[in-house]
Amino acid sequence: MSDPVILFAAKPERWVTYEAPLRKALINAGISDTGLTLTDEPKDVDYIVYAPNSEIQDFTPYTRLKAVLNLWAGVEAVVGNQTLTVPLARMVDSGLTDGMVEWCVGHVLRHHLGMDAHIRNQDGVWRNDVIPPLARDRSVVVFGLGVLGAAVAQALVGLGFDVHGWARSPKVLDGVICHAGSEGFQEVLGRADISILLLPDTPATTNLFDAVRLAQMPKGAVLINPGRGPLIDDDALLDALDGGHIGHATLDVFRVEPLPVDHPYWAHPNVTVTPHIASETRPDTATQVVAENIRRGEAGLPFLHLVDRSLGY
Ligand code: NAP
Repeated sequence: MSDPVILFAAKPERWVTYEAPLRKALINAGISDTGLTLTDEPKDVDYIVYAPNSEIQDFTPYTRLKAVLNLWAGVEAVVGNQTLTVPLARMVDSGLTDGMVEWCVGHVLRHHLGMDAHIRNQDGVWRNDVIPPLARDRSVVVFGLGVLGAAVAQALVGLGFDVHGWARSPKVLDGVICHAGSEGFQEVLGRADISILLLPDTPATTNLFDAVRLAQMPKGAVLINPGRGPLIDDDALLDALDGGHIGHATLDVFRVEPLPVDHPYWAHPNVTVTPHIASETRPDTATQVVAENIRRGEAGLPFLHLVDRSLGY
């Protein structure tokens, strides 16, 4: 059997960081790296290691393609591509997960401990009237209990928070009170002192957090969104922030990225904007997942982390 041709299709600067670890991971997985390439005859390509912002948007010429291996966890920019008819795997990477856990825990603790009161007020006034509550007295809801949401929820359990989670299908997770479906959604909204949104961007999740749902959260609730921008109705969130019902929003992802400079989120005193940096695929660990999937493809085994096209994630 000839060596598989593996096309790396992402922004050129990614090749600089990915080439060495990808070659190493392929060799460690028992796959020759001689077929790893930046350009090839489309008809000869077996696998595409893919970032949805690459130049390849038409997969039709890739007639012998066996799989597209996404470098991103989010697949909304590729899942609807009608020219893609082979299996699509999304990125599940322990480094990406660890980064997301750390980012979410950091932002939860900021709001839980009320750190801003002291970081922003170094003015010589000794304000010792508010002592932070304990984690066990604070409810945190994680919306989305997939790879990332489950890891974040369990880290928060480890810190003692009262953690609830919500997903499409029922889940069992140590220490996490799990809810599912639309009934479960109503139930968790009322408990969401601090919410973390780790849902994918699909037709079913667009504007899930609209004016009605935001109003069902406790007064002063904090929203942390490292999921995707369209999960939130932006106008409704701005109204809820202005009216004081939502206390703060820490937002990492937006409908338009980079967030336009004149967007009201930038100037809002109760919004923290971070530039889609919550976590990123880490080449060392991500390439092991890609190589394992190629190994499986070559061995005729089922691919890992396949996207369900009908659900959009
Ligand atoms: P995942 O493993 O596919 O998990 C998605 C979770 O969302 C699952 O628990 C799923 O429920 C739930 N879900 C999907 N549609 C739903 C619906 N309509 N109602 C209720 N629950 C629903 O995804 P992941 O790897 O955890 O990643 C989650 C998202 O994080 C990605 O899609 C991406 O948008 C985002 N992300 C952001 C960054 C960043 O730096 N900001 C980095 C990586 C990823 P089931 O378990 O029942 O299927």
